[in-house]
Amino acid sequence: MPDIVVKFGGSNLKSKQDLAKVIKTIISYKQPIVVVVSAFYGITDLLVSKISAGFNNSNDIDLIIYDLEERNKQIINENFKDDTIAAEAFSGSAVLLKELKRLLLGVHYIRELPDFLEDEILSYGERISAVLLNLLLKEHKVFSELKFPEDLPLVTDGEYGNATVDFRACAKDVKNSLSEDHIYVIPGFYGVTPSGKISVLGRGGSDYSAASVAKCIKAKSLDIWKDVKGFMSGDPKLIKSPVKLNRITYAEAAELAYFGAKILHPRTVEPLIEGHIPIRIFNIDNINGLQPMSVVNSDEVVKEGVVKSVTFSDEFCIIKLRGPAVGIKPGILAKVSGILNDEKINISSVLTSQIAINLIIQKKDQKKALMLIKKLELKAINELLVINNISLIAVVGQGMLENHGVAARIFSSVAKQDINIQLSCSGASQVVTYLVVDREQRDSAVCGIHKEFFN
Ligand code: ASP
Ligand code: MG
Repeated sequence: MPDIVVKFGGSNLKSKQDLAKVIKTIISYKQPIVVVVSAFYGITDLLVSKISAGFNNSNDIDLIIYDLEERNKQIINENFKDDTIAAEAFSGSAVLLKELKRLLLGVHYIRELPDFLEDEILSYGERISAVLLNLLLKEHKVFSELKFPEDLPLVTDGEYGNATVDFRACAKDVKNSLSEDHIYVIPGFYGVTPSGKISVLGRGGSDYSAASVAKCIKAKSLDIWKDVKGFMSGDPKLIKSPVKLNRITYAEAAELAYFGAKILHPRTVEPLIEGHIPIRIFNIDNINGLQPMSVVNSDEVVKEGVVKSVTFSDEFCIIKLRGPAVGIKPGILAKVSGILNDEKINISSVLTSQIAINLIIQKKDQKKALMLIKKLELKAINELLVINNISLIAVVGQGMLENHGVAARIFSSVAKQDINIQLSCSGASQVVTYLVVDREQRDSAVCGIHKEFFN
């Protein structure tokens, strides 16, 4: 049975050349593996943007299906030479598009988009890519077996839009379903609820799918193939010569992912920690005898100088609740977090003082969050502010908490440039200090911190 799970993301699935690299990579393993794939590049975004298109006019649904047909046709024509297998690819993808069309028409007729239907529709990006990749392997004379999450079944807690895998319910069955010495191809991004409906695992969730399957089969490693060099000390678009990180811990990887590094989905490490399953990050342009670029595992190495990486995100905003006594009045935070939680809005961080509560949330949730907090009509709050034009910078390294000088160096490297730190937090986790600065000053702050620790 396979003991490695290998994941390819949408950025590996853009062009004919990409697909050729994916096939070459799978072959280079020379052993049974479980391959987990994302949708072809941009397809989930497309489905998200068009999902309610047919509300008024069913012709819009025909247009979406036509667009997807054309894209599949191009992929098949470009990549398949064997007529019989190409015909299989055409009919396989046509069946999927027919199903998708029926779901979209369902939305059209009921004039509503129930959560369960939305998730099922979104799963079609991965269904299509998995069906085509499985046949493309056949075209290259590689025998593989396609398994859908519902065949395993990969059971979730049933939270539509952002489900969590229920390992107690499914680990054994998943393992048994993948027990032959085969190459298995599985679409990522979704699982099934206890009652058998489709539930997606959150945007970018194929990493988490792959990690979940790795846990179920007690894999030796989770291999994630990317078009970047691995985890770096800073974003190469901003930092002239960032250092590649050969090894980082689960906690460091999770913080980096959580605070902006695009390389991994923040939830990927969750299923892997208990079984100490390492994540190996590879660069698809450099198969190089399967030498990983970065390895994420539980070995806690404290680097000299502590800081391993600086990352940032512009996707957050601050909601400030002001009032003379919000700090000592009990219950305010509970009410606010309760109502946001009910609406599935995640609070990324909270910082409080005597006169203000600061919530850091994703910008995309801002409107709804404000509306909900206003609805509470909290008497203790006399001002509700949103600060939008900010960047959140995270400085990550094991040993942050024990080595006191580190935070001081971070702050002074920013202060030296006359940059005002609007908020900061150190000590909430052992591996991260983060600060909030004006969006315009983000680049100077990030470069300043990186220079302090890496030059
Ligand atoms: N295709 C899904 C998304 O774009 C899942 C993934 O790419 O990991 O969110
Ligand atoms: Mg992705």
